[in-house]
Amino acid sequence: MSSSVTDSAFEASIAEHVTLAPFTTLGIGGPARYFAEATSTTDLLNGIEWARQRDLPLFVLGGGSNVVVSDEGFRGLVLRVQLRGIETRADGDRVIVEARAGEDWDSLVSFCVNKGLAGIECLSGIPGLVGATPVQNVGAYGQEISETVVSVEAVDLTTKNLVAISGEACGFAYRSSRFKAADRGRFVVTKVSYRLAPNGRASVRYPELKACLKNNGRENTDAASIKEVRAAVLAIRKRKAMVIDPSDPDSRSVGSFFVNPVTTRETLERVRSVDTTLPGIPNFPAGEEMVKLSAAWLIEQAGMRRGYVRGGVGISKKHTLAIINLGTGTAREVLALAEEMKSRVRDKFGIELVPEPVFVGF
Ligand SMILES: Cc1cc2nc3c(=O)[nH]c(=O)nc-3n(C[C@H](O)[C@H](O)[C@H](O)COP(=O)(O)OP(=O)(O)OC[C@H]3O[C@@H](n4cnc5c(N)ncnc54)[C@H](O)[C@@H]3O)c2cc1C
Repeated sequence: MSSSVTDSAFEASIAEHVTLAPFTTLGIGGPARYFAEATSTTDLLNGIEWARQRDLPLFVLGGGSNVVVSDEGFRGLVLRVQLRGIETRADGDRVIVEARAGEDWDSLVSFCVNKGLAGIECLSGIPGLVGATPVQNVGAYGQEISETVVSVEAVDLTTKNLVAISGEACGFAYRSSRFKAADRGRFVVTKVSYRLAPNGRASVRYPELKACLKNNGRENTDAASIKEVRAAVLAIRKRKAMVIDPSDPDSRSVGSFFVNPVTTRETLERVRSVDTTLPGIPNFPAGEEMVKLSAAWLIEQAGMRRGYVRGGVGISKKHTLAIINLGTGTAREVLALAEEMKSRVRDKFGIELVPEPVFVGF
């Protein structure tokens, strides 16, 4: 599977000094020194080899919905993954859906929901492409892709071989995986296989989702169809500007900028004792002795509110965790606002917020 000479047609397709802002949902970012689209595994291998021969760093871009690109841009080759194709096959009482990395994630969810395949319906409306879903184990409304991923096909940059990594070997954790942690930058995902349930029951675990379904007249939420769940999730997300909508300036973001901190119960007690006049901090069990705290609550109680503006960026009017580009924002301003949010929370609660997006070119 490895190649040592780059294809001349691919080489001819490499563009120079391409501004990255339009390729990101935040709409921020300077130029890529070199930029190419990969529509096949061969293109990917050509790009990898081309960058290696010139000793240039490589960045693999999907839908750009979880990246903050520096104002100076990226000095190497940006490879935008555009591999397309979806296949389904029976697997006992389940169906395996294999999607290539460049497929739009929400279109895949819609495709599966329309075929009656359950398992990813709560992940409706998440922007970006299939190839990035294992990277941070995308999750929402009580579901994570770790529950359905059976295998990830990827090019291993250390050997340039195409490898299959089982779901168990992906090292999935809350908003993380080996692709975002220990093996960051090592693999380019080419295909992801999900194991879904035909005519399966919808997953309705999240209180806000239950409330929305009840509001829609579905008293017994366990009986909701996956189509109803998809519609409810999309409606909730739209209210929070958590679907990309060019007409909604609050959606010009990377989604949540910080992950919810997972801490010990002792830390939870310490947070509670900081100010006993505060309303109770929302917290959720997160494995043995650990709890997940609400980053949005911490930010709000530290005195930062929705609609806050700092230069060309601000906090969404609909979601405390979303840093938005007001139109003239720069990456420098995004980092300054993120630091202000972090330091307020650190000073008040002694908790270090961890950013969710990937930083490129800093
Ligand atoms: C409005 C909004 C709402 C969001 N809501 C959620 C949510 O509810 N839950 C959630 O988990 N996330 C959410 N996100 C974050 C984001 O959509 C997801 O993380 C998504 O999976 C990123 O996909 P992408 O293709 O845009 O990746 P990119 O932003 O292009 O890349 C993200 C990272 O993945 C890497 N990557 C991308 N493709 C590949 C590949 N083929 N192989 C190897 N590495 C790759 C990149 O190098 C980078 O490190 C939201 C974002 C926005 C803007």
